[in-house]
Amino acid sequence: VPAWWAPYAWLGGASNASDVLVEVKGDRIAAVTAGVHHPPAGAIRLGGVMVPGLANTHSHAFHRALRGRTHEQAGSFWSWRGLMYDVADRLDPESYLRLARAAYGEMVVAGFTAVGEFHYLHHGRAGVPYEDPNAMGHALAEAARQAGIRLTLLDACYLRGGLGAPLEGPQLRFGDGNATAWADRVGSLSPGAGVRVGAAIHSVRAVGPDDMAVVAKFAGGSGWPLHAHVSEQRREHDECLAVLGATPLEVMDSADAVGPDFTAVHATHFTAGDTNRLAAAGGFCCACPTTERDLGDGIGPFAALQDAGVRLTVGSDSQAVVDGFEEARAIELDNRLAAEQRGILPGASLLEAATRHGMAALGWDAGRLAPGLLADFVSVRLDTVRTAGADPRLASAVVFAASAADVDTVVVGGRTVVEGGRHVLVPDVAGELAASIGALLP
Ligand SMILES: [Zn+2]
Repeated sequence: VPAWWAPYAWLGGASNASDVLVEVKGDRIAAVTAGVHHPPAGAIRLGGVMVPGLANTHSHAFHRALRGRTHEQAGSFWSWRGLMYDVADRLDPESYLRLARAAYGEMVVAGFTAVGEFHYLHHGRAGVPYEDPNAMGHALAEAARQAGIRLTLLDACYLRGGLGAPLEGPQLRFGDGNATAWADRVGSLSPGAGVRVGAAIHSVRAVGPDDMAVVAKFAGGSGWPLHAHVSEQRREHDECLAVLGATPLEVMDSADAVGPDFTAVHATHFTAGDTNRLAAAGGFCCACPTTERDLGDGIGPFAALQDAGVRLTVGSDSQAVVDGFEEARAIELDNRLAAEQRGILPGASLLEAATRHGMAALGWDAGRLAPGLLADFVSVRLDTVRTAGADPRLASAVVFAASAADVDTVVVGGRTVVEGGRHVLVPDVAGELAASIGALLP
């Protein structure tokens, strides 16, 4: 039986267990035993703290091309979006495979073992479908397989340019015409091993209430997770109130989209009523604090959401930063700035957002070191310049001291994909990022 041993492991709660042996059978965890002072012969000895594989519940892989290239101008989300559309306009299935393989490679070395790709770049130039109408989705699935990461392909319905505005320019590539045509296309997705399919409503801007209801019904009937951007931007939230007389979450709830498989991404400008509504439905909220920071979105009411019983998750979204620990602690740190108070969300609940809740929001049976779950786990070094001296017995030591660069080993489904901080399947992630982005944005 393949086995891994680490001096510390987070099994849930505020404290780390010590001397933990994880035994694996096939792609699942067979046993987890603490207090094993002498690991059996053949067990792989890890250093530092073992944590469950991290879940990145909100990603747009191609946004990785924009990192470090959008900071010279003032502006807002809306001016940034123009630059993002320039990249979208240049991609085809081959170049998207190369870029996504590298972007997912970066996620894997950061300790993410699953990603929810919120995918809306469906069609060719001017919206003309490819011969395989899912060519772009299949390119993402292949990229994830090559990079060794689990993928939940959240295929997004995106039908219009704004409340009452048609698609234009690069947006034409996102559109299927109507939600029935969207359902016909996603119904023919054949994702293959290691990949699940889910649905997404891009936003209240991009999908009207009637089409939303079609997407929600199709996702529910398929047993798929359903994700949506909700109230990320104040302007979007206010326009929705003015035009439809309801908040974005209320509009989605009226379309029967909001339930226990629903993830509201961002929720930055949620009202107290929205928070209670999402909690009552048993849904998730995906915080993307590094992106929300980068775009000047605002600070979401994550403490109130958690208090109300909403399960929080984290996403790297625009890929401004790909670091699950930074994303998790940012939930707390940004709320400290807003509340002028420390210690709002405990470290263990931040780790839970990055692991257990994220995996659940993506439909994966993973996110905890426990028998029967998928064997996804990560070891985090405690002997680097960043982490040395942190108390290894505290779960919060990992969340508040570690960064993506401190990830040493990553195991996905019992297979080692990162060893000594190096990707086994994509040996030169940085080189592939530079080459794939350089080809798009010379
Ligand atoms: Zn997004």
